[in-house]
Amino acid sequence: MTRKLSIAIDGPAASGKSTLAEALAKKLGYLYFDTGAMYRAVTLAALRQGIDTQDQQALAELAEQADIDLRPPSKADGRLSDVFLDGEDITWEIRTKAVDVNVSDVSAVPAVRQALGAQQRRIGLRGGVVMAGRDIGTVVLPEAELKVYLDASPEERAHRRHSELLEQGKEANYEKVLAALIERDKIDSSRAVAPLKPAEDAVMLKSDGMPREEVLDLVLKLVAERSQAEDPQSSPNYRLPLSHWIFRHIFGPIFRLLFRTLCRVRLEGLENVPRKGPYIIAYNHVSNFEPPFVLAFWPYFPEAVAGADVFQRKAISLFVGGYGAIPVRRGEYDRKVIDTMLGVLASGRPLAIAPEGGRSHDPGLRPARAGVAYLMDRAGVPVVPVGISGTSDEVLRLAVRGKRPQLTMRVGPAFNLPPIAGRGEERRAARQANADLVMRHIASLLAPEHWGVYKPLEK
Ligand code: C5P
Repeated sequence: MTRKLSIAIDGPAASGKSTLAEALAKKLGYLYFDTGAMYRAVTLAALRQGIDTQDQQALAELAEQADIDLRPPSKADGRLSDVFLDGEDITWEIRTKAVDVNVSDVSAVPAVRQALGAQQRRIGLRGGVVMAGRDIGTVVLPEAELKVYLDASPEERAHRRHSELLEQGKEANYEKVLAALIERDKIDSSRAVAPLKPAEDAVMLKSDGMPREEVLDLVLKLVAERSQAEDPQSSPNYRLPLSHWIFRHIFGPIFRLLFRTLCRVRLEGLENVPRKGPYIIAYNHVSNFEPPFVLAFWPYFPEAVAGADVFQRKAISLFVGGYGAIPVRRGEYDRKVIDTMLGVLASGRPLAIAPEGGRSHDPGLRPARAGVAYLMDRAGVPVVPVGISGTSDEVLRLAVRGKRPQLTMRVGPAFNLPPIAGRGEERRAARQANADLVMRHIASLLAPEHWGVYKPLEK
């Protein structure tokens, strides 16, 4: 079976990337995803609400809140896809001159890129998608199996755009179209964050004088080659065995009852729990009690990870194995285990992990593990931070003495990690910074004696 790839098509304005990407998606039965439409939708919303395109904070909020949806075309009026903003069809409205003139200023705002980039990455990671944009191969999906950078001279591009406008019955002046294109290219290529540039491993195509069909054929050949290549990142979808399902539904209520009887339990922020996955639950890990505490009181049963050493201890391994936790050797997140975890997330489930690796036996947070940072980078799913306090190695002793220790689980709002660019050492550092950010979110849910090596986020 040929596998479904993620394909990135980047290039400057009017280089023909949307037409190519759409035709390619249609041929392959993939999703066509026009990321430029998202930046255009936010620009349109800003113009409608009278928000200044220099007002970064207001634009960032807009990008976070706007409900932008891209769907296959519902009308045969020349559109490549339907674009919706808060339920309204804005497909043609985002192609007006006003949007053209302002979109590059809006897309240069880092927080806008962060909000939209995270959504794009989530969709791109599913595979079977052709994404057109400016930074897909470099930032949004650096792991795309095929990256094409489509270019053409400014004159050729202005020519195409000019004819397009005339065909649509719009007034257009070639010189003005050319000047506007050059201006947009300049802003897009010189912005500080995710500027327009080819990825190092992109296939460069200059389409001057090349008919569309020829470009499409060439790229289809590249797709055929890449789909036959061995799949280096397979994430087998994960199926939960029935035995684990039964175990969870029997022991879940028993654990809840035990916790509530032997301890005082406080649950805060449960309204922050997303209704469905995929997402990563990241909690602090002091003793043996945080994992069962989280799993028993989460509104539904998430998948979980447990240190392989735990499986060596008979009594505990009965529960951990029965629940169906994924065993991980600390410090050795190997490919197979990472693939299983990615498979869990790809099948839409939440996954609970402790970024610190193992128990700290100390209330203070310790540094997040590199393996967790790698997993979060690959997964590209939202993270739900959880701060747990009151748990310690002493819980059981206190509980059986009738001291009823106070255990608190505080769930924070889900958030997306900033997209990561670069390779090698640079990428590793960026990953670790993201994992540290997760730890700071956790610290923000805890009292100062739990902060350890992390500072909470500033309010
Ligand atoms: O592709 P299109 O011309 O519709 O994109 C409109 C604008 O959106 C671009 O000029 C650019 O400023 C921005 N954009 C971006 N990153 C992307 C896609 C588009 O910055 N991935």
